[in-house]
Amino acid sequence: MPSPTSLLPTGAVHRCRMALLLWLCWALTPCAQAQGLAAETQSQFARPKPRQVLVLYSLGSDASSLWQTLIRRGMNAELATPNWNSTPGMFEERLDSIRVGERQAVAGLDTHLRTKYANVRLDAIITENYLAARFLSEHPNLFPGVPRFYVNQGRQGWEPGDGINLDVIHDFPRALAVIAQVTPELRHIAVVGDTTARGRDWIAAFRAAAARYQGRIVFDYWDKLTLDELRHRTETLGAGSVLYLLPVYRDMQGTRVTPPDVARDLAARSAVPIFTSVESLILPGVAGGHVISADKVGRTIARILQGRAPDPDGMQATIFDDGAVQHFGLRNLPAGSRILNQPQGLWTLYHTQIIAGLSLLALQAALIAALVLALRGRRATLAILNEERNKLEERVLRRTLELLVANSKLEQQATTDPLTELGNRRKMTLRIAEEIERGQRFGHALSLLMIDIDHFKRINDHYGHDAGDRAIVAVAQVLRSMTRGMDTAARFGGEEFVLLMPETSLQVALEAAERLRAAIEGMEVDCGDGQTARLTISIGATSDLPLDATTRLGPDSLTDLLIRADQALYRAKHAGRNRVEWT
Ligand code: GH3
Ligand code: MG
Ligand code: MG
Repeated sequence: MPSPTSLLPTGAVHRCRMALLLWLCWALTPCAQAQGLAAETQSQFARPKPRQVLVLYSLGSDASSLWQTLIRRGMNAELATPNWNSTPGMFEERLDSIRVGERQAVAGLDTHLRTKYANVRLDAIITENYLAARFLSEHPNLFPGVPRFYVNQGRQGWEPGDGINLDVIHDFPRALAVIAQVTPELRHIAVVGDTTARGRDWIAAFRAAAARYQGRIVFDYWDKLTLDELRHRTETLGAGSVLYLLPVYRDMQGTRVTPPDVARDLAARSAVPIFTSVESLILPGVAGGHVISADKVGRTIARILQGRAPDPDGMQATIFDDGAVQHFGLRNLPAGSRILNQPQGLWTLYHTQIIAGLSLLALQAALIAALVLALRGRRATLAILNEERNKLEERVLRRTLELLVANSKLEQQATTDPLTELGNRRKMTLRIAEEIERGQRFGHALSLLMIDIDHFKRINDHYGHDAGDRAIVAVAQVLRSMTRGMDTAARFGGEEFVLLMPETSLQVALEAAERLRAAIEGMEVDCGDGQTARLTISIGATSDLPLDATTRLGPDSLTDLLIRADQALYRAKHAGRNRVEWT
């Protein structure tokens, strides 16, 4: 459908219109008006002036309108374009016409806007859609003198007397060519629309474009059906057919619907691809096609706000949903098509998380490595400490043993007579005390012999002191050889010995004493220099009996025993020596 003010026609006419529009954009900016044509280009870029712009939306807020969300996205993307530092201050008003109805949307808006913006110096007003455009054109006295830009999707062939018209026109010939290109064995297209004024215009424009395909493709126009009929017919479509979905606002029964609801409803029932004419209807299950792009409308608005020319590529784009393309096996998609909802690789989707996860893992690994190293160092230190401790323990043990040995040597030295290697007086007194106690406890008799060499002085005098020593050693050897293992012999004084005989009665002790006396009497002592000497000994014997209440009051003490033995010895000496006496 031709439109004298459309931005979209191709060729020379289109270029001329673009140039004209750009000039108008510039001419309407206050800055340009003030400075004149000559300084225009330089001043606009060199000293950008903050602008205040009001955008009127036909539809509702972002949350309720995908169309508006896409427009805002395109607008923001364009306004964020680098190297453009004059982002306008923007005011927005929404008619919310789908939700509240067209009539209510504009009622009272005139007064509302006048009051609200009484103190704002606007540089431009832009309408986003046909309803807002109609409202603005019907209120010529609103914001007098402020340049008006009518982005006017739907009211074709309309020329405002007070501003610039930016028609957004469906390119149905291109849309049909794209459907034919991507759909295998296309034979039938069912066009879904309604009988609203705009719906009738769109159907008419579509019929004109379809004329080229007469005889090759069958066209059905489902613009006068109830919703139930529409659903039913959609379900009957089979191979070779497609649906072409225009925005539907009401069915034949007058029921008010929204285009996205209809799109979702039909997508859920259709076994064939659904193409559409606007970007906001490319919902899950809808294939897409050559559509009016909300993103591009938004970008166009932004460019006008910045005083730039509209996007030379127009406001249409070829857009497909990847899921539908795969599901319906669409092929030969036109070059430059935008594909929505393409599955993204794990890396694309989660690279931040993956990098964060890997970083954490690396950090953890480093910590573990550091811990392992620290542990190894600790173990090495512990091993060294252990070794040192073992060495120390060994040294202490060895030293303790040495001390024990030394002690026992000292003990032995302290109780041993060095000449005869028999026990000494100290040893004997300890043994006597032990045996007295043991004898009393177990009821054993204990005997003791005190032995003294007779006239020993004479040996010393006659043979010398060394010979005397040999004589003492010889007597000691006899004592050692003739006593039992349990007996103890000791050198008690110079040439005096004591023989302790545990568990031995006096009778037995006297017999042993006699044997000793005889052995010494029969012995020859080597006095050196080939000389020999003969000896005799005198022996005093005594005995200690176990405690007996009838005869004794208590056990003998060590001293008692020794005194008695000494007395016996004394008697033996006086009786002539070389004999045994007892007491
Ligand atoms: P008795 O028959 O009365 O015992 O006469 P004795 O000469 O043996 O008298 P006494 O027991 O009093 O004299 C002991 C002497 O033994 C005195 C001392 O010179 C000597 N004598 C003491 N110890 C040793 C010793 O270790 N070696 C030597 N050669 N002589 C000693
Ligand atoms: Mg003596
Ligand atoms: Mg003597």
